Amino acid sequence: MSEVLKIENIYKRFDELVVLEDVSLSVNVGEVIVIIGPSGCGKSTFLRCLNGLEEIQEGKVILDGEVINPVSKSTIKSREKLGMVFQNYDLFPHKTILQNLTLAPGVVQKRKRTETEEEAVNLLKRVGLENKKDNFPRQLSGGQKQRTAIARALIMHPEVLLLDEITAALDPEMVREVLQVVLDLAKEGRTMVIVTHEMEFAKAVADRIIFMDGGKIIEEGKPEDFFKAPKTERAQKFLQSFSY
Ligand code: ADP
Ligand code: MG
Repeated sequence: MSEVLKIENIYKRFDELVVLEDVSLSVNVGEVIVIIGPSGCGKSTFLRCLNGLEEIQEGKVILDGEVINPVSKSTIKSREKLGMVFQNYDLFPHKTILQNLTLAPGVVQKRKRTETEEEAVNLLKRVGLENKKDNFPRQLSGGQKQRTAIARALIMHPEVLLLDEITAALDPEMVREVLQVVLDLAKEGRTMVIVTHEMEFAKAVADRIIFMDGGKIIEEGKPEDFFKAPKTERAQKFLQSFSY
């Protein structure tokens, strides 16, 4: 197994508040890591530190052998290799669905419009939205918007996808359609780091579960072991708060 992403002993502080404390993690190509843990434990901050949206105070994030956080000029380019999808989609409201996909590959990667449009149409087909390409985000349901956001991340050809509670803002009937897209990506061998509160989904999609609390990784393991018999009391308590 070859390693694509390596996080070495990172610390993140907001002034006095320590949000991540000595967190290390290694992600292999094709691996799906699911991070779970109570609200406020640092999951989102961790993902943001991976792609350089947050500065770290100590430690390193290494992608393909290259340090990408601490951020330096020479490494800004490689951050494109990490695609991120957020809870609130962050689509451009005044652009069509097709334009939402083609904008970044055109501006950032200088790819030709004919090429990116063709790829965008194919990706929209894959997430079941080919008939929405000329619509605007406000004309889409939450689930459709989130599937657009996933397609928009994929068109950049990321090596790793980071998904931060992408179903948390969705009505229950739309959760499934979005999670199905992620399950398909996992089957295709996509490397992903996923933060979610959907425990059944976590169990189904993860190669490895990471349980965080208070800014630290408390426990990690295979999903079948972790969900059946969590080793730490904190993880046990956390799981008991879900009725699944
Ligand atoms: P989670 O995603 O696990 O719910 P977060 O990573 O969002 O947790 O937050 C972890 C901690 O960091 C929380 O205590 C939160 O209040 C704090 N935090 C997050 N972002 C900032 C910020 N920009 N400034 C100050 N504190 C922050
Ligand atoms: Mg969060």
